[in-house]
Amino acid sequence: MARIDLHAHTTASDGSLSPEDLVRHAKRQGVSALAVTDHDTVAGLSRALAEGERLGVEIIPGIEISCLYEDVELHILGYFINKEEPLLEHTLATYRASREDRNPRIVQRLRELGCELTYEEVKAFAGAAIIGRPHIAQVLLHKGYVKSVAEAFDRFLGDGGPAYVARVLPTPAEAIGLIRQAGGVPVLAHPVYTSRLKEPFDQVCATLKAFGLLGLETIYSSHTQQQTDRYRTVAREQGLLVTGGSDFHGDSKPNILAGTGYGNLAVPADLLEPMRALVKDRGR
Ligand code: AMP
Ligand code: ZN
Ligand code: FE
Ligand code: FE
Repeated sequence: MARIDLHAHTTASDGSLSPEDLVRHAKRQGVSALAVTDHDTVAGLSRALAEGERLGVEIIPGIEISCLYEDVELHILGYFINKEEPLLEHTLATYRASREDRNPRIVQRLRELGCELTYEEVKAFAGAAIIGRPHIAQVLLHKGYVKSVAEAFDRFLGDGGPAYVARVLPTPAEAIGLIRQAGGVPVLAHPVYTSRLKEPFDQVCATLKAFGLLGLETIYSSHTQQQTDRYRTVAREQGLLVTGGSDFHGDSKPNILAGTGYGNLAVPADLLEPMRALVKDRGR
C-alpha cells in the first residue's frame, strides 16, 4: 500500500522548505499523495501543485487554521479547498493580521526576558512567509539563547509560557465554516491537543461535528498507539473520516520527515478514497 501524508508546511508559512522542495522531499520519501497545509495561507499551493504534476505526486490543496475552543487552541485542517474562493482569501487575511499584531509583542516579551533580538531580525529570517512562533524560535536558536526549537517553546514560546502572547482567533464554527464555504473537508488536526480541555474527547468531537467537521487526524507523528486507537474508535462511532499526516515543517521539527514522521508513521493511501467520495458527492 502506497504511503500518503496529509499534513505538511512550506516556506509560505513556518516550514523551511519551498513548495517545490517539499514536494521533492515527499517524492524521495515514497509519498504518493501529499496535502500542503500551510497556516492561514494558500500562497504555496500553486507552486506545489505544479511540482507535483511534474514529479507525479498528487498534491491536495489544503490549509491549517487555528481556532479557540473554550480556552484551548485547536487546529482545523481543510482538504481539497478551492483556493480561488474569494471569501477564503479575505478571511485568511484577517487571521494573518492578528499575527502581525501579536508577533512584535512576543519579541518585546523576549527582550524583557533578556533575549536581545529584534522584530526586524525575525522578519528578515522569515522572508515572505506568514510569521509563526517557529520562526521566532529559530532566531533564538541562531542567536544562541536556546539549543533547540523545542527548548524555545518549553522555556518561552509555548502556550502559557513567559513570552506567549495570545492572538485573536476564530471560533471553531468559523474555522470549520470557512473551509466548508471553500468546498473543503474540515478535519481536526492532532486531536491530542484536546487533552487540555476538561470536556471528554467524544463530546468535543460531537460539538465540532455539529459545526460541520468531517474527520479526525487519527494518525499523527506524536500520537501514541493508544491515542490513535482511541481517536479511531471515536471516528467510527461518530461517522467521521480517519486521516493522517506528519506535520512536516523541516528545520523547526528536525526529527519529523514527510511520510514517516518520527520513523514509524504510516498513513495508508486508501484513507483518501472516502474523502474523495465526499468531495465528489458535494458536487466539485
Ligand atoms: P503559531 O502559528 O505562531 O501560533 O505557532 C504555532 C506553530 O508552532 C505550530 O505550527 C506548531 O507546530 C509549532 N509548535 C508548537 N509547539 C512546538 C514545539 N514544542 N516545537 C516545535 N514547534 C512547535
Ligand atoms: Zn506550523
Ligand atoms: Fe497544527
Ligand atoms: Fe501543522
